[in-house]
This record gives sequence, C-alpha cells and structure tokens, in this order.
Amino acid sequence: MDQTIRILMLEDVATEAELALRELQRDGLRCELQRVETQAAFSTALSQHRPDIILSDYSLPGFDGLSALRIAQAQCPEVPFVFVSGTIGEEVAIEALRNGAVDYVLKNNLQRLASAVRRAIKERHERTARLHAESRFRDLIEFAPDAIVVINQHGKIETVNRQMELLFGCPRTRLVGTCSRSLIPARLAEWDQALSGEQAMLRALDTLGKPFEVPMCRADGSEFPAEISLSPLKTGDGLWISGVIRDLSERKEQEERLARMTRIRTILGSINGALLRIRDRKSLLREACRIAVEEGRFIGAAIGLVDPDTLIVTPQVWAGIDAEFLREVPVSADPSRPDGTGMVGTAMRTGESQVAHDLLQSSDLALWPAAMLKRGIRSTFVVPLMVGEQAIGVIALFSVKPDAFNPEEQQLLSALAADISFALDYIAKSEQLNYLAYFDAITGLPNRALFQDRMEQLVTQGVNGTPEKIAVVLIDIERFRDVNDTLGRAAGDDILRTVARRLRDIVSDSNYLARISADCFAFIVRENASVTEVANLLERKLSIQLSQPIPTHGRELRVFVKAGIALFPSDGTAADILLRNAEAALKNAKETKAHYLFYTAEMNVRTARKFSMENRLRRAFDRQQFVLHYQPKVNLASGEIVGLEALLRWQEPGVGLVLPGAFISILEETGLIVDVGSWVIQRACEQYQKWRAQGIDPPRIAVNVSQRQLRQENFVEHILQLATADGIRGLEIEITESLFMDDTNRDTACAKLAALRQAGMTVAIDDFGTGYSSLSYIAHLPIDTLKIDRSFVSDMAVSRSHKAIVSTIISLAHSLNLTVVAEGVETPEQEQLLAAFGCDQVQGFLYTPALPPDQIAPRLRRFFPTAAD
Ligand code: C2E
Ligand code: CA
Ligand code: CA
Repeated sequence: MDQTIRILMLEDVATEAELALRELQRDGLRCELQRVETQAAFSTALSQHRPDIILSDYSLPGFDGLSALRIAQAQCPEVPFVFVSGTIGEEVAIEALRNGAVDYVLKNNLQRLASAVRRAIKERHERTARLHAESRFRDLIEFAPDAIVVINQHGKIETVNRQMELLFGCPRTRLVGTCSRSLIPARLAEWDQALSGEQAMLRALDTLGKPFEVPMCRADGSEFPAEISLSPLKTGDGLWISGVIRDLSERKEQEERLARMTRIRTILGSINGALLRIRDRKSLLREACRIAVEEGRFIGAAIGLVDPDTLIVTPQVWAGIDAEFLREVPVSADPSRPDGTGMVGTAMRTGESQVAHDLLQSSDLALWPAAMLKRGIRSTFVVPLMVGEQAIGVIALFSVKPDAFNPEEQQLLSALAADISFALDYIAKSEQLNYLAYFDAITGLPNRALFQDRMEQLVTQGVNGTPEKIAVVLIDIERFRDVNDTLGRAAGDDILRTVARRLRDIVSDSNYLARISADCFAFIVRENASVTEVANLLERKLSIQLSQPIPTHGRELRVFVKAGIALFPSDGTAADILLRNAEAALKNAKETKAHYLFYTAEMNVRTARKFSMENRLRRAFDRQQFVLHYQPKVNLASGEIVGLEALLRWQEPGVGLVLPGAFISILEETGLIVDVGSWVIQRACEQYQKWRAQGIDPPRIAVNVSQRQLRQENFVEHILQLATADGIRGLEIEITESLFMDDTNRDTACAKLAALRQAGMTVAIDDFGTGYSSLSYIAHLPIDTLKIDRSFVSDMAVSRSHKAIVSTIISLAHSLNLTVVAEGVETPEQEQLLAAFGCDQVQGFLYTPALPPDQIAPRLRRFFPTAAD
C-alpha cells in the first residue's frame, strides 16, 4: 500500500492512539491519524475527511463503540470499521462483527493491528471494485436492446430492465412483484404454470437459453409475438430464472409481407394461365376474381365495367363478397355524382390505382360505405382496367387487414390488372367480329382472318409471353373441284367436314386449326416444332388419316392432300408473311410430285428423297405396277405343297422387278401400305378363286399384313368385304411378332384376329424369334402357325445355341398345338436338322423361290378329280 492511509480513531486516551499509530508505522504503513473523542466530532470527521478506515474504542465516556458503528454504517458504509479495545468478551465481539465491524483488535495485542488494517483496506478495495463491476453489469442489463426479466422461485417478477418497461408499456414499479403469468395472454391456458417456479425452471433447464416463440401480452392487453429464452440464475435466495424477451412483431410482419408477395405472384401466374385458356369474357373475369380471393387470400374481389354513356360502373363478377354488398356500394365514374368521387371514380378518371390503407383511420370515415365497415373491411385497392388511354372498368380488392397493400404488392396487382385489360381488349375485338365473318359455316372452324389473327398473337406474344418456334401448315385437298363438279356440293361439304374432323384429331390444339379457303385448311404446330417433327406428322399421321376412304352419298371417296409449310421465325416473323410463304410452298408442292414442301429448299432436300420414292410408289399403285409372287410352303414329311405365301413385287418400268425390301418401309411410313395391303389381300383372294375355277385345289395363301393395316378400325369388315366366304377359308394372315409387343393395341389386335379366325382364316406369327415374346405368352394369342425366322434357320448349322433355340421352339409350339414353319431353308443340312426336330413345314430357296402365279400352278399337283382326269 503506497498511499497514506487516513485513519479516523475514536479514542478518549491520546496515548492509546499514539501507541496504535506507532505500532502501524513500525509495520511500515504510512498513515495519517485523526483522533476524535465525542460523537459530534466523530460524525463531522466522517463527513469531512472521508477516512480510509475507522478504528474505534469499544467503551467511551458518554458514547459507546456500537453507536459509533451504527453512525459509520449510516454515513459511509464502505469505510471499514475496526474495534481496538480492551477485553470485550466473545459475545460482544460477535455482536460487533454482526453489526458491520470488519475486525476487532485487543489493545494488549496491538501487534495484530497493522495486519488487520491492511486486510480491511484491501477488502475495502476489492469491494469497491466489485461494486463498480456490478454497477456496470447492471447498466448492461438495464440498457440491453432486449427486454430482460428476472423471476424468482415463486414465479414473481424480481427485476426488469428498461426495455422490458417499454415493451410491455408498464413502469417497473408495477411489473416488479407481479406474477410472471401476467406477461402471457390469459387465453393460453397451457402457460398457467409454465412461467412460475418449478415449471419455469424445468423449461429453462430444458431449453437452456434456446429461444422459443410465444405470444405475450402488454399492460393494455394487446398481444405481440415474442421470442423468449430462459436461463436458470443462481442467487443467494435460491434458483431463479432470467428471461430474455424479444419482440418478433417486425420480423413476423416481414415474413407475412414476403408470403403475401409470393401469393400475389402466384395469382399473376394463375391468371395469366386463365387468360390463355378462357376466351369468354365473363368466365375469364370470374376466374380472375376467384383466383384473387382464393390464392391472394383477400376477403373479396370484384370487377366492374363502366357504361360509356351513363358512366355507371356495374359489377360484372365478384368473389368472396356478396351481390348485396355490391348493391350497397354503388359506384360511378361521373364526378358530378356523389358515388363518382370515391376510389373507383377517381381511379377511372385518373387512370391510376387508388389505395385505402386503413378505413378506420381515414379522416372522412363518413364517406366509407357502411357495407364495407360492416364486413370488417379495413383496406381496399382499386386498379383501373385500361384499354389504351381509356379506363373501361376497375378491379377492386378488399382486405380485412389494415395496410394490406404495400407498394410492391400494388405494383404486382397493377400488372395483373393490365393483363386482364389486355385479355378484355382481345375478347372485345373478337366479340365484335360477327361469328360468321370469322368462322366457317360448313366445318365450324375459324376462317382465314381469325386464323391469321391468332397466329399473329402467337408470333408476337407466344403463349407465355415469349414466342416459340411454330410451323404453319397448309393442307390442300387435291382435285376437290372435281368432287364438287361431279358429285355435287353436298358431297363436297361432306368431304370438308370429314377432313376437318380428321384434322381436329391430328392437331394438338384445335384453336389453331382453320379452313382458310374452299379446299385449303391450315393449322399450326406449336411446342417448338422441329422440321422432322412436322415431316413426321405429315407423313405418318396426316396422309394416313386423311386418305382413309370417306363414305359419302352411297360411295366411298378418297382424298389426297398436298401440304405447304412455313416455319416461324426462319421463314418470316409476321403472320401474313408466314401465311404467304406457306402458300408459296403449297403451290410448289402442287406443281411438283411432292406430297408436302417446306418453304425453304433446304428443308425440302431433307425430305425430298423420301418424297420421290413415295410418289413413285403412289403412281406405281395407281398404274397397277404391283404384282404378287407366290412361294410354296412344303410339308417336310411328304414333300407336298401345303401352303403359299403371297409376296409383293413392284414391276417398275425400265427398272425391272423391285423386291419389297426396297419399298415396304416407305409404304408403311406413308400409310400407303393400307391401300396396297388391301389390294394384296384382294389379289390373293382372286388368285385363289381363279385357280379353283381352273380346277386346281390350291392350298391356303398366306398374305403379310402390317401393323398399320391391322390397326385400321374397320380392318375385319374390310377383309370380309374383299373376300367371299370361300376365299376367306383360302387365306392365312401373317403378322409379325412385334405387333403384340405394343400393349396399347394388343387387346384390339387379338379381338380382330379372333374374329377373322372365326370367319375361317388362319393366323401365323411371322419372323418368330426376332421379337421378345415368350412361348407361354404366345399360348394366349389367337394363332394357328408359328414361322421361325430365317436368321435362326440359316445359323442353325453353325450355331449350337440357334440349333437349340429352333428345336425348343418346335417342341414347345407343338405342345401348344401350333403348326411350325421354318423360313429360308436353303440347304439339305438345314432340312435334315429341321426334320430331326420334327418341324412341320419348310419354305425356302431349297424348294422354290417366290414365283409368278403361272409358274406356280403346274406345281400345285392337287387337281380336283373332275378337272384332272
Ligand atoms: P417375309 O414375310 O419374311 O417373307 C419371306 C421373305 O424371305 C421373302 O422375301 C422371300 O422371298 C424370302 N425368302 C424365301 N425363301 C428364302 C430363302 O431360302 N433364303 C432367303 N435368303 N430368302 C428367302 P421378300 O419377298 O423380299 O419379302 C421381304 C419381306 O417383305 C417379307 O418378309 C415381308 O415382311 C415383306 N412383304 C412382302 N410382301 C408383302 C406384302 O404383301 N405385305 C406386307 N405387309 N409385307 C410384305
Ligand atoms: Ca411372311
Ligand atoms: Ca418371315
């Protein structure tokens, strides 16, 4: 201790004081001693000199040490008080200490005085330091940004800080001592115990300062969302709880605002969807209101349109609110009328949206319709629906919350109104159009003007605001005028209606299908149409569907079409240009052999090769250049011809005999196979009858039937029509295994085959083994014969696995009572193996290739007895 210690000594005997001082100095303490004898002097010295320590005799004349202690405690409690006295007895000493003295030193043991003083001074320093720290800490708590409360073990509030007073709107004098339960709304029964005593302690230990949310309640009873964290607090009086409370109102509000914005965005999306879907004004508006209420969670929405003459705004549709409400709130755009000066009137006149943040706070409350207040509506937002410069109506949104419409939200809702306006304008335009002026009376399809209008919309706006690639396809019915001229207009109309119906089935969105001139249809392929997709659509779907015979006036007509295609954006970016280019392409197609042409040459090159082949085939069919050759099926055991397979050949002038491998796939792709296949059946039937007429008893003739043919709805009827009952019994149908792999057609295909068998035909599965069907699966099919594919037969001699497959197929087929035919038998070894496996019939070059009928006849030895002998 470097500083001089200022000692105040209460001692009536001066030498005693002297002794004490000497003792202290002897010990190296630097001190300054002031001696007083009376109570008055003591008191004055205390207040004037502020001693560092008080040394006091216990018994003084007219004044005792305990009274001095009391005075010192009252005046300067921080100054240590040490008794220095004669023997005072144990009890008195304890009493003195209890009353606040820090020590006592016996006069006959003065050597202890210095250490007692030292310790007392030191303790005093420590205590002041602690007090300083405590007061700093108290400040920290007091001015903390969060509300802090200390709750004692009885659930009573012990301490609160300033923020707590602010947050709960209550001075601490009222908060301290009340039950902590009062901080939480009474309606929350589960909190009855939870903030007091043990419960709170358990929770505090449980959550250990981790915050949890609970609504809290201000002094005025209003509630706010809060976050509390509780911690146990060890005090001299036991375990208490300290709680830190944070007001979540703002955060909640922000979350709520965010959620609201998301909702509004959803509305925008939904409404834009509706705008595209719905083309009738009333349903569109109704849908807009419904979406606003359901997805925007407004209490109500209404759309009103203005009568341009009377300026009265009439509600058209509404949601969430009732018609009664709207009747009670008349509105108009006429400023001279009282109902024309409100939000709606102002919005209509200024073209700007109007917002009322809180009806209850509004200065002219009287202006607000009672109907709104009655329904608890607190805020409203009115947006004008503008077409050009003109307001044609408003959309009004109502909320029971004050301030439901913040600026961002208002902006989004205005965008929404703009979208509705746009749709209204569009609808209005199309409504102005007389139906007949925009639709074709015969087919009910849009006409050229409407088609072009819709197309214009697609190329400028697209469906979702961004234009996508589209293809404009024009379809021209060939020789339509001939039909009209020869069969009359009624037949012509039938054709048009049928073509329209078939096109509707083909195009994905019939909004974009139109009849644009007498014999010309147009449609748009959307969804980022690619050249190949369009080509495929035309080749695979369109020509086939359209070329189906059309029954009209007791006969069947077949239409052939040509197509011209323009692509957006490569062939033009405006509707009229695209249409013109598609027309140019169509004109080209009509002048050439092309079935369809793209506007650009490059696109055409891609499909040109296919075209030329297809056209040649079409012509081949027209000019009857197809012929049938027949290949015998031989009974392996007897060598007898037991069947014939009709195989198609094309006798192309200047080229010679073309085998089906070169053209069957194109016939199938183009759908020509349907006509050609039907010709094959007819021809085979005729041949069968012809041979019979010649006295030959021919075996069954098998015809190959492709999937395409079988899929024709009237396939069975068609065959039964082509062939006589006798003929039917002379026919077999060969179909490939893969036909049954396609689940969607399996059942109908089976039904058709079953019907044909019923009529006397037989059915063979061709190319068996190349598909993946198991024999057990084959067991359920309506078939008679199984033809083992050529590849197995040819590999049999070199591949042991193929040998095993063939032998297995044969024995299993027999167990299913199926006849087995081996195709493509070329060598005696193959024949021997097949014989060993028990194969029933063989077909192949080893016996006879496919030959023209006149070369086959002599080999059919089975003449009728009458004709032969
Ligand atoms: P497919 O139904 O498997 O007909 C058997 C094919 O194998 C015929 O070829 C035939 O000439 C050939 N062939 C016969 N024996 C042998 C032989 O020992 N060795 C070899 N290497 N081949 C032999 P083609 O006539 O060229 O017919 C090919 C395919 O064209 C047929 O295969 C069939 O799928 C299809 N096809 C033929 N005519 C028609 C038809 O009228 N309609 C349909 N839809 N398809 C047909
Ligand atoms: Ca065949
Ligand atoms: Ca075959």
